[in-house]
Amino acid sequence: MLDISIIRCLSDNYSYLIRDKKTNLVGVIDPSEFDPVDLEISKTYKKLDFILNTHHHHDHVGGNIDLKKKYNSKIICSSYEEEKIPGSDIKKSDGDKFSLGKTDFKVIHIPGHTLGHIAFYSEKASIIFTGDTLFSLGCGRIFEGTFEQMFKSLEKIKSLSKNTMIYCGHEYTNSNGKFCISIDKDNAKLKNRIEDVKKKKEKKLPTLPVTLGEELETNIFLRCDDEKIKNNLEMNNGSKLEVFTKLRNLKDQF
Ligand code: ZN
Ligand code: FE
Repeated sequence: MLDISIIRCLSDNYSYLIRDKKTNLVGVIDPSEFDPVDLEISKTYKKLDFILNTHHHHDHVGGNIDLKKKYNSKIICSSYEEEKIPGSDIKKSDGDKFSLGKTDFKVIHIPGHTLGHIAFYSEKASIIFTGDTLFSLGCGRIFEGTFEQMFKSLEKIKSLSKNTMIYCGHEYTNSNGKFCISIDKDNAKLKNRIEDVKKKKEKKLPTLPVTLGEELETNIFLRCDDEKIKNNLEMNNGSKLEVFTKLRNLKDQF
């Protein structure tokens, strides 16, 4: 069993502090900066065994060096971009395992946002840390990879169990919802989620985590074969990849 706490960082980033209950091993996913993560550790476990990075962007690794110095943590990152990760110790490739005590994680390579981007997935705990690849009601910008790479990375995540809880790198759900509803206008489940997200935002609560099942029903980037979405885009004969490419391009200008 795993304890997970959500830590707000920078303007809209999330870092996640995780603890394996049986062994008291502690890790943090994507520490954007030192101070908020250090504050949470000081209030909770007073230790940090591992730092896990999904990709090399500064808002996901900014706290690496200072946290490592203070807590003598080991930094786990993608073997595909380890030279860009400050303080990297342990490199992981697609399919590699990582155990936080009794909680096993599998590394899934999901290129597109960056070429070396990885996710940490625990089948047993039904959770995945998706960094800047899958967001709630959205997906990351394609900076280094191709549209096809990003599309295939999302397909990998789509294939996981529907009850998987998604923890992503940013609080973008509200603005992402506005884009989704502009394309998927009659989706009742999407409308309900947008209402729910608004309420959470008013109460200053995180909109995460969210289940993969909910995302499959409401996130248009995971619904590129939906006939209504294709129709609204006037792409009835378009392939899933063509629809995805169109959506990602429209979102960049939204
Ligand atoms: Zn990023
Ligand atoms: Fe980011």
